[in-house]
Amino acid sequence: RNQVKILGVPIDQITEEEAFYRLTSFLEGSTVKKVYTPNPEIIMMAQQDEALFRVLEEADLVLPDGIGLIIASKIKGLGLKERVTGIDTMDKLLTYCGEKGKSIFLLGGKPGTAALACENMKKQYKGIKIAGFYHGYFQGKDEPEIIEEINQANPDILFVCLGAPKQEKWIYKYQHQLNCKLAMGVGGSVDIYAG
Ligand code: UDP
Repeated sequence: RNQVKILGVPIDQITEEEAFYRLTSFLEGSTVKKVYTPNPEIIMMAQQDEALFRVLEEADLVLPDGIGLIIASKIKGLGLKERVTGIDTMDKLLTYCGEKGKSIFLLGGKPGTAALACENMKKQYKGIKIAGFYHGYFQGKDEPEIIEEINQANPDILFVCLGAPKQEKWIYKYQHQLNCKLAMGVGGSVDIYAG
């Protein structure tokens, strides 16, 4: 695994194709893999937020999503290969899940948005198994129930769309309680699929 550091934050030096290969191999693993898709704002946030910095450091894969990261890498000669966006990666994974009979759970977005996004996914990705969904405006006290719902649904992939850095911290906090192979922070993707 090769990573480059941008303001100290390790980002995987990976192409879209390599990322896809790595992610599908995560689906055959035995522990929850944590994947994030930061843009420069998040890297900046991590400079002031030690907890977020650690969360990013302990990721299993950090995709260079923001174009600003690629530009910074070029200027500094850090060697990032290409931009790998969360939304393109999610599209590829959903196609793969449809083909392989893998299931997903979508967490986040305003009430109603995740449900709509899942409806659209069912139309767009043949064979996709939607294990469940839940909106992203819950309270802390509701979290045990949400974890229980995710675990009952037992998805292969949990897509978390709570905005950054909430989604990254949420995945980190609950990684040992979650029953899934891959937990991925994908920000506004729920809105894109719902729209
Ligand atoms: N969101 C959420 N719960 C929250 C805050 C945000 O579910 O407490 C959702 C929001 O509705 C949107 C998504 O997270 O669908 C991404 O939010 P935003 O665009 O602010 O984050 P970014 O993608 O820029 O990280």
